Amino acid sequence: MQTSEKYTVSSDELKPAKSSNFLAQNPHLQTPELQGFDANNPPNPKLIDTCVHCGFCLSTCPSYRVLGKEMDSPRGRIYLMDAINEGEAPLNEATAQHFDTCLGCLACVTTCPSGVQYDKLIGATRHQIDRNYDRTFSDKLIRSILFNFFPYPNRLRPLLAPMFLYQKLGVQKLVRLTGLLPKISPRLAAMESILPEITIESFRDNLPDVIPAQGEKRYRVGMILGCVQRLFFSPVNEATVRVLTANGCEVVIPKSQGCCAALPEHQGQTAQAKVLARQMIDSFANMGVDAVIINAAGCGHTLKEYGHILADDPEYREKAEDFAAHVKDVQEFLASAGLTAKLHPLIDGDLTIVYQDACHLLHGQKISLQPRQLLQQIPGVKLKEPLDAALCCGSAGVYNMLQPEVAEELGQQKVENLLNTGAELIASANPGCSLQIKKHLELQGKSVTLMHPIELLDYSIRGVKLQRN
Ligand code: SF4
Ligand code: SF4
Repeated sequence: MQTSEKYTVSSDELKPAKSSNFLAQNPHLQTPELQGFDANNPPNPKLIDTCVHCGFCLSTCPSYRVLGKEMDSPRGRIYLMDAINEGEAPLNEATAQHFDTCLGCLACVTTCPSGVQYDKLIGATRHQIDRNYDRTFSDKLIRSILFNFFPYPNRLRPLLAPMFLYQKLGVQKLVRLTGLLPKISPRLAAMESILPEITIESFRDNLPDVIPAQGEKRYRVGMILGCVQRLFFSPVNEATVRVLTANGCEVVIPKSQGCCAALPEHQGQTAQAKVLARQMIDSFANMGVDAVIINAAGCGHTLKEYGHILADDPEYREKAEDFAAHVKDVQEFLASAGLTAKLHPLIDGDLTIVYQDACHLLHGQKISLQPRQLLQQIPGVKLKEPLDAALCCGSAGVYNMLQPEVAEELGQQKVENLLNTGAELIASANPGCSLQIKKHLELQGKSVTLMHPIELLDYSIRGVKLQRN
């Protein structure tokens, strides 16, 4: 680091400390063998040096808000990366846990006045942890389940029928009533608690390969189905197709497409992320599309990062950059292309909606105005703004399953802030956020409708009316 001062990590009050004393001042980080990062792309010291330790990022960091420790803040983690790079701190359970508590929400990237690329730093760190830190058996087990099922719709699909029966036969209610699962495994309980409702639509994954534009064709676009989205939120995908075609887009859906790689990439599974990214690029090769459309915030952010993910792949580097340049969030695309379909009111009278910013749209893709602009075009819609709109809801991909305690508190806060607006409906453009918010609405005994903004546009175009609760 450029500065000679570093800070201790055991207190909220930052105390200057000499770098050579880092371990002495943080005995809980010590380990008999000083295992650190390997030479394969450690967090870049040049990027680390751009942090001037001003601390502006702390108040916007959700993990710091909940845990209140410097080491669970962006600044603290950057110190830790530097200390491990310099051989002054080990990569062990005590240090890895501070990286694991990071939600990857990127709020710090938005806030930082010095332009610190924390996203690149934490990305490199997660890959290092994956290679060089030996996780506990239970940690490995849950991660293995997540990485071997979630990115593969064909593996998830056979689980739909047992999950459907689990919900419809009342076993889910019984499991939740007993309250035993959180005592046996908090992580399994967290996974169970956000299980989406399995409906008959979940078994329908049958969008055609090409759907023609209605009226004059303005664009030819590719569409990404998502893994969780296509199985658990298929109405959102169907609504996306209807809205795009109603606005003059021919929609192409290559069936060879798989996962966008968001889950493995965010968790440091480099090899898996690269394989999935290459498959996705191949699926859309030679399709001749003007844009590749995605309706899930987290996936969109990763798809736009393909150039970075495949930067060291000579065969795919250019293809990845070209693909990423074509990726557009559906709201970003529609706001730019302009709506040509006529919009109708969703309800008799005004409808108050609170739009929930997904971190990977707001911070990751800098998309916040476009969804609001689209919603405000629907006759009768009045938008409300929640307190702490830019703060993560705690979903963060699979974070709410891996770090359930922090996620619980953030979910509860987010729902309270959304409810305090008095809005009748919540609009959320990310499946993970939607599941997290629905869970906490239920826990707080509130019945407020939650829909993807594209579903609201679809209803408005088709003249479908919402019922007031
Ligand atoms: S706001 Fe930026 S420069 Fe300041 S401490 Fe945070 S990361 Fe470092
Ligand atoms: S990505 Fe989010 S949780 Fe992680 S350090 Fe930045 S603000 Fe905090």
